[in-house]
Amino acid sequence: MKFYDFVIAGAGCSGLSLATSLAKANTKHSILLIDKNIHTNQDKTWCFWDTPNSSALPYTTTVWQNLTFYSDNYEKKEKILPFNYVGVKSGDFYKYSYDVLKNAKNIDIVEESIERIYGLESGACIETKTQKFHCHFLFNSTSITADQSKSHSSYSALKQHFQGWLVKTEKPVFEKNTATFMDFRTEQHQEVRFFYVLPYSEREALIEYTIFSKQLLADEAYDEQIEKYIQEKLQIENFTIIEKEKGVIPMEFIHPDTTHNHIIPIGIVGGALKPSTGFAFSLIQKQVDQIIKSILSDNLPLFKKKIQNRFSFYDTILLHLLQKKEINKSAIFISLFKGNNIGTILTFLSEKTGIFGEMKIFSTLPVKVFIGALIEIYWPRRIKDKSYSPIYQTIR
Ligand SMILES: Cc1cc2nc3c(=O)[nH]c(=O)nc-3n(C[C@H](O)[C@H](O)[C@H](O)COP(=O)(O)OP(=O)(O)OC[C@H]3O[C@@H](n4cnc5c(N)ncnc54)[C@H](O)[C@@H]3O)c2cc1C
Repeated sequence: MKFYDFVIAGAGCSGLSLATSLAKANTKHSILLIDKNIHTNQDKTWCFWDTPNSSALPYTTTVWQNLTFYSDNYEKKEKILPFNYVGVKSGDFYKYSYDVLKNAKNIDIVEESIERIYGLESGACIETKTQKFHCHFLFNSTSITADQSKSHSSYSALKQHFQGWLVKTEKPVFEKNTATFMDFRTEQHQEVRFFYVLPYSEREALIEYTIFSKQLLADEAYDEQIEKYIQEKLQIENFTIIEKEKGVIPMEFIHPDTTHNHIIPIGIVGGALKPSTGFAFSLIQKQVDQIIKSILSDNLPLFKKKIQNRFSFYDTILLHLLQKKEINKSAIFISLFKGNNIGTILTFLSEKTGIFGEMKIFSTLPVKVFIGALIEIYWPRRIKDKSYSPIYQTIR
């Protein structure tokens, strides 16, 4: 059995971010990075918003200054000051990460499936089919939990699921500086369904069809909608598909498993996710920065539980409404975008608004619907549809 100071379970976004940050910090710790599948190919596009200069990431990024919003009766295009919208291709991120890691003599990389993790009195243990590793701290971004009875999340409630095509067009049709944040010009099926467009050049863009619902669709159903959107709304006739991407992100509060002091959940299973939007990339980078600071200052424990604040409460209300079939959910988004600058909405989603700013935003929303949700959250017996996830428990 080999001993490491740190084992990082999972070499996805959080595991690799942590491993490369440790390598760059030049710590002398012995580290193992383990994943069942070492990803190197482009499989995800991560986007987030940030103020210019603060997003000085070491890997290639694409930056959009403007965002657009579309619905059948309302549309807007705005410079999203004080932010830029930033895109990172996972292929670039993986390449950069493994370039850094190959020079780090203290980091081993193993490609094997983890079967079991468990805590010890002063450390943790990780087992694959053929090997066993002992460590002082285990950073876990996989859904395997130390206490088998506790799953990080069933991912059974609401999900954000999507598929996208990276297309190349014959003619220049896209505006390079302008991404489409939400385009609701599609049948809603009592859910939330919209398109998302990220242009990389005038002839190349990622076009995604996104749904907030509990049930996924068959692959062909997403494809059918993307094709229809390209032809009918973007009015593009000749294009080729270069890549496809798909994903599912939980839209629920993730409660990290903190049963054991030496097993630290990171990434989505570590709670670095805004449940009402599915955005996780920036939160993961912040979480990694905090861990690195703790390690460098020998400041234990390494895991800081996210404090429930008023933004968790707002998320709870929105998640509650998103589950209600009888509510016109796209109308909520349309009111939001009609009544507020996109920059203001992004500041709110970053949880950086003040209470008066938030009141101003809420005044642009269908108030009755939100009051109804509040009553249901605090008086759950009024909820007739028993298929609701008990979101209200998260704020009680
Ligand atoms: C297609 C897609 C697009 C996304 N786009 C955005 C975006 O634009 N903006 C944003 O903020 N967020 C986005 N997200 C959400 C979030 O940023 C990503 O899901 C991110 O990858 C989460 O990082 P993570 O480290 O928590 O998990 P992951 O990146 O999924 O890493 C977990 C790793 O654990 C490994 N693993 C799992 N089980 C085992 C096992 N038994 N043994 C060994 N290894 C195992 C997996 O192989 C994986 O590499 C997106 C998600 C997806 C799926």
